[in-house]
Amino acid sequence: MPDLIRVTVWNEFRHEQQDGAVRAVYPDGIHEAIAAPLRRRPDLQVRTATLDEPENGLPAEVLESTDVLIWWAHVAHAEVCAEVCERVHARILEGMGFIALHSAHNCTVLKRLLGTSCRLKWRDIGEKERLWVIEPGHPIAEGLGEYFELPCTEMYGERHDIPPPDQTVFISWFAGGEVFRSGICYFRGAGRVFYFRPGHETFPIFGDENVQRVIYNAVRWAAPVAGPTPVFGNVEPLEQLRADG
Ligand code: ZN
Repeated sequence: MPDLIRVTVWNEFRHEQQDGAVRAVYPDGIHEAIAAPLRRRPDLQVRTATLDEPENGLPAEVLESTDVLIWWAHVAHAEVCAEVCERVHARILEGMGFIALHSAHNCTVLKRLLGTSCRLKWRDIGEKERLWVIEPGHPIAEGLGEYFELPCTEMYGERHDIPPPDQTVFISWFAGGEVFRSGICYFRGAGRVFYFRPGHETFPIFGDENVQRVIYNAVRWAAPVAGPTPVFGNVEPLEQLRADG
């Protein structure tokens, strides 16, 4: 893990500009609400980017200097240009961490990484969610209790059409009866991918201390590792092999 982790918080930033109810919860945008607590961490260097900036806020030089990319999106997945999606996907395989939040379950990059529809059940009436930590030794669970609760959330329910996660850290229960794999990890190429469910735009989810803790832990977990560079293709044997058997 690098001494200073360079984090880019990316947000499509549409609801906050178009919907007063969302702006009331996130007056500076969801990206700033996610970034603010991360900026207080001395081991992180944090910047933000949004969809309507040139190259959707993610030109090559930004991605090349990003260790972990956090992604919030909902209504504008199709507006992220194909070249940017390709660039983000390639950087993840190279080793950039990727954290997809809430409705980013449906974003192009995550669907491409997972290879399934990523569809799910949902209901937006503001019900209670209880997130159970089911891997207490996982770095993303550091500092949490056995469970934590969000009093008022949008429900996401199983089945979530995803491949079996490499690691499942949280399972959610909702007051309406559904359950959901709400914190899941995948390894893709040299990159680490974490999907975290909470984050609906009309509730102050990103002000919750446990949610902030999970995102910070996930940034540290997803940060690139100075591992070996794999060699592909035809290679000479490492041992001397006898040709005559
Ligand atoms: Zn939502």
